[in-house]
Amino acid sequence: MWHGFTVRVVSLIILLGLVCTRAVLAVPPFEVTFLDVGEGDAIYIRTPQGKTLLVDTANPATAGRIVKFLRSRGVETIHAVFITHPHPDHMGGIFQLLSTFKVERVYDNGQPIEEMPRCDIYRWYVESVRTLDHYRALRSGQTIIYGDTKVEVLWPQRLNPSEWNHNSLVLRLTHRGRVFLLMGDALASTEAELLRRELSLKADVLKAGHHGSVDTLSKEFLQRVSPSFVVLSVNRDNPRGYPARDVLERLDRAGVTTLVTHEDGNIGFLVDSSGGLRLMVGQR
Ligand SMILES: [Zn+2]
Repeated sequence: MWHGFTVRVVSLIILLGLVCTRAVLAVPPFEVTFLDVGEGDAIYIRTPQGKTLLVDTANPATAGRIVKFLRSRGVETIHAVFITHPHPDHMGGIFQLLSTFKVERVYDNGQPIEEMPRCDIYRWYVESVRTLDHYRALRSGQTIIYGDTKVEVLWPQRLNPSEWNHNSLVLRLTHRGRVFLLMGDALASTEAELLRRELSLKADVLKAGHHGSVDTLSKEFLQRVSPSFVVLSVNRDNPRGYPARDVLERLDRAGVTTLVTHEDGNIGFLVDSSGGLRLMVGQR
């Protein structure tokens, strides 16, 4: 009798082991996808625990691409939107997202807008976003945790009233030892500030600041970050000439794999439960 009982217990333990192994295998990967939104930035993040995060929201004319993408993923709730700074190619889609999805939190860098020339989109932004109960401005040193995913705010430490791009939120996402450094529209001046601080900036994937303009991705910064992949979020035939030829050449010399949204489409990275990193390009 005891023998039979033992066999049953052992069988149960083995069965549970198999179920647990299957459960581990079935854990969805962590995903970071840089969406091709033409002029601007929009980054979709999905944690294995099912949290949906967005960093930037494209411009008002291309926000529909984010809506289409999120719907294709069955998203109904966006747990947090991080707006790196309130320029229209980063915050312009927030109005459509707020009216289409349940948005639980909105963060930005707190850039004072009131001094801007009277421009309706900024007034709308203040009225629709900054008045939300769940809106917060972030500062360097703050960290937000979503399960085993960490979002650290590396910048801004303080705001320079006249330089919006320099004040962009710089976010470091970490999951299972993989690091994504998201620069918003930060410039070489921001990079220099980050270099001055004794931060480990090493990252697997670097989203370059300010669409790869000439005053981004200094040689020193690239060396310190030492990324395997650099993503440039920019439209075809950008009227300001982004990305700069100098920057592309610098990336080439550094031996980095450079991905560009208008050429590669949506650029996705998956991190599995053991920290393996996989690249997916060409999804639309
Ligand atoms: Zn921009």
